[in-house]
Amino acid sequence: RIGVFVCHCGINIGGFVDVPAVVEFAAGLPGVVYAEDNLFTCSQDTQENIRPVIEEEKLNRVVVASCSPSTHEPLFQETLREAGLNPCLFEMANIRNQCSWVHMDDRERATEKSKMLVRMAIGKSSSLFGLSPVELHVTQRALVVGGGVAGMISALSVADQGFEVYLVEREAELGGNARRLHYSSDGRAPQRFLQSIIEKVESNPLITVHGGREIERLDGYIGNYVTTLSAGPDPGEQETLEHGVVIVATGAVETSPDEYLYGKSDRVITQLELERRMSGSELGRLGNVVMIQCVGSRNEGHAYCSRLCCTQAARNAKLLREANPRTQVHILYRDMRTYGFNEKQYREARDGGVVFHRYDDSSMPVVDEVDGKLRVRVANSILGSDLEIEPDLLVLAPAIEPRGDAVELSKMLKVPLNEDGFFLEAHIKLRPVDFSADGVFMAGLAHSPKNLDETIAQAKAAASRCCTILASETFESEPIVSSVDTAICAGCGTCVEVCPYDAPELTPLEGRCVAIVNTAICKGCGDCAGACPSGAIGLLGFTQTQTIRMLNAALSN
Ligand code: SF4
Ligand code: SF4
Ligand code: SF4
Repeated sequence: RIGVFVCHCGINIGGFVDVPAVVEFAAGLPGVVYAEDNLFTCSQDTQENIRPVIEEEKLNRVVVASCSPSTHEPLFQETLREAGLNPCLFEMANIRNQCSWVHMDDRERATEKSKMLVRMAIGKSSSLFGLSPVELHVTQRALVVGGGVAGMISALSVADQGFEVYLVEREAELGGNARRLHYSSDGRAPQRFLQSIIEKVESNPLITVHGGREIERLDGYIGNYVTTLSAGPDPGEQETLEHGVVIVATGAVETSPDEYLYGKSDRVITQLELERRMSGSELGRLGNVVMIQCVGSRNEGHAYCSRLCCTQAARNAKLLREANPRTQVHILYRDMRTYGFNEKQYREARDGGVVFHRYDDSSMPVVDEVDGKLRVRVANSILGSDLEIEPDLLVLAPAIEPRGDAVELSKMLKVPLNEDGFFLEAHIKLRPVDFSADGVFMAGLAHSPKNLDETIAQAKAAASRCCTILASETFESEPIVSSVDTAICAGCGTCVEVCPYDAPELTPLEGRCVAIVNTAICKGCGDCAGACPSGAIGLLGFTQTQTIRMLNAALSN
């Protein structure tokens, strides 16, 4: 007894697909006892209406034709659960993304395609069966990797909610990159702020800091991780930590420029070095200062924008002018990316007399030293001629890049890095601090270049995501996992090789070797099912019978 609910999604679907025609079509298909359309199927009102329909019509399968299962399937499955049905007796047809969005200019064919997708979903639904989630024990403790601001704020937030935290920092001292920050755009004194959080971390009875240690091994899965730390200061001392979740807050590094005489002239420094000199009053009287932006960013080596440098340059230039109005500051930029409220820094720098010169990547600035004097030349598109400045100080904005050891940690955790080498979130909007692997979260520069405020916000978000798992002694993992028919498994190990999460393992069984899947680790991606030469491994919820029924439905008229 199948019930079908077809969504208008306002005009998102209804504007491009004849929804009533799809409902009428669905109502005539075998097994369908109920079909209706809804303005917004995901709205609370509709969910409340679907529940009694399931009960009154005695539905044992539900199909929703609407938007993307990755965003909405859990919501509809919850409605089934509340109505007393197993959530895996649910199927979805994505007629928004696959019909109305891609065939906006052809209503008739978008409608026909919607009918086909609905028929496929109905075909599959008749062979669905209920699945039970796997219940896992949860060690109610977190591991935070990295003792910079992101790591410390995450650790404090988790501890504030009453859970124990292991905080592992490779250096002996806490603080990370923030130890080099002396100014912030909101006027907050970064060093005072840093000291206050270090004190809070060190005095928090729920946080154990493992300083000067690195992660040597990390095994396990959500709720049940075991981490081995490198030997501590006492020779041979190795520690093993048990925890249920992980926050990756390993930071990033400022690159060391190999251009513009950096490292060759002591008058060529980076923005962070400038901040240290400004805060220690080491600068003395400066006539001309030139700042060059995008040093190593937005080029072949690092295609991305390092995001922090434009704001940092505008702020530091303004501070130099405030300290000594006779200092002329010239910023050579490709685009000033003082995004969001940071625009204030740019405006204040301009109003304060900082001079901005745009260059483009076809005519990069040239820096040389002539008779002991630095000389910077840059083509100025507005003046239509080259500009030559002899600065007392040249300040570079180097790229921020991922740590070299991110690759190793990503392999241990079986989580991905993006093409730039930063840790990659599961979904930029829907799961911005999660990894695709359950129980692992991220915060701070390890994810991408970001300022202190963004880092703090992300660290708190990661901590609260962790606490949703730590709050319970058990965790229900997804029931859609792979399963091996050991009677026909040839023990070839192909599934072990292809699985990105290391879920299957070859195990001796009755004198043979067969694959056994750790369902707590399996993410239900289906790679193994596609690769198995014997057809021994299959994905629950996507069995061969179910797939063939969908295909038959697609091919029938
Ligand atoms: Fe270049 Fe500015 Fe982006 Fe830094 S923030 S990479 S200087 S555009
Ligand atoms: Fe691994 Fe994916 Fe197969 Fe699960 S479904 S065992 S995650 S390959
Ligand atoms: Fe067994 Fe198939 Fe895995 Fe080979 S790929 S070990 S036959 S389940």
